[in-house]
Amino acid sequence: MTGITGFYSDEWTFWHSVGLQALFLPIGGFVQPPSGVAGADTPDSKRRLWSLLRTSGLMDKLKLAGAAAIDDSDLYRVHTQRYIEEFRQVSKAGGGDIGDFAPFSAGGFDIACISAGLAKAAMSDVMAGRVNRAYALCRPAGHHCLSDRSMGFCVLANIPIAVEAARAEHGLGKVAILDWDVHHGNGTQSIYYDRGDTLTISIHQENCFPPGYSGVDDRGSGEGAGANINISLPPGSGDAAYRAAIDQIVLPALDRFQPDLIVVASGLDAGAADPMARMLATSETFRAMTQTMVEAADRLCGGRLVVVHEGGYSEASVPFLGLAIIEALSGERTEVVDPTLGIFDAQQPQADTVRFQLDRINALARTFADTAAL
Ligand SMILES: [Zn+2]
Repeated sequence: MTGITGFYSDEWTFWHSVGLQALFLPIGGFVQPPSGVAGADTPDSKRRLWSLLRTSGLMDKLKLAGAAAIDDSDLYRVHTQRYIEEFRQVSKAGGGDIGDFAPFSAGGFDIACISAGLAKAAMSDVMAGRVNRAYALCRPAGHHCLSDRSMGFCVLANIPIAVEAARAEHGLGKVAILDWDVHHGNGTQSIYYDRGDTLTISIHQENCFPPGYSGVDDRGSGEGAGANINISLPPGSGDAAYRAAIDQIVLPALDRFQPDLIVVASGLDAGAADPMARMLATSETFRAMTQTMVEAADRLCGGRLVVVHEGGYSEASVPFLGLAIIEALSGERTEVVDPTLGIFDAQQPQADTVRFQLDRINALARTFADTAAL
């Protein structure tokens, strides 16, 4: 289905700062301090995606929009009062880190409310039929954030905030959230773990982040039993493994669940050049996965599909991965050729390695064969 694709972005989101050496890399001690950005989420991967959308001409084919910051009623549908009050206070006082690996600078709360607002506006416009599909260039990301604690660069749960706003304001029913960020979507999982109206699926590198977690046995509880699926892939999984995971596990689960809206938590850090993970996806992998989700949304829920940007830390390759996604989402094709594709195609695993990865996926497909029929 063609139609209007909305694109939601805001200059302020690029101003969010996590500091230069934000995470686990040692500073000083026995090793020379890093000379640049090390282990940090910088604005440049996302800003360069924005630039490529402009220079490629793709932006001219999209309906461009900003968004209002979310308000207290949006926040408190998902987050605890205690967490929000502390976040607001520390942000006013100059910034800090009130969770696990989720630092922010002065004004971080206000920027996070704009980032979540982009996801909310994208979802609201799709639900109201103002656009057919939508892409929200959110920063900071959201999928690690719990209801009461920030985590992994994520300080507000952007997608649950947007979903719950759409439920309150547009009567949205069943939602399927597919998270292909290379790290586990633990925040989204925890918020919806006992809910039967929201299917959460995460495709991620095993044991990557949260460290040591793969989650295959965590399948939801209570009314949410069977509505949480973790597709844990071994490091080095590339194009063949990702396509197989989508075809053999994600699509059957979506067909059983029959969602009213499909949301993709679209981290781009499964890309082969990403410094925060060890996977081998290419721009063609992301193009194919997006195309499959467009077709699934057309078949299952009137085309309603919202893609929300999560992680992705390679300044070099994120713009080309994001362009492929937004081309597939909008049905447009620019003349841009991904200059890294030849290299990363040649780096794909050999046949016997792929067979090992597909064995894992086949086993998971059997495990999840009866899930998500709610
Ligand atoms: Zn990630």
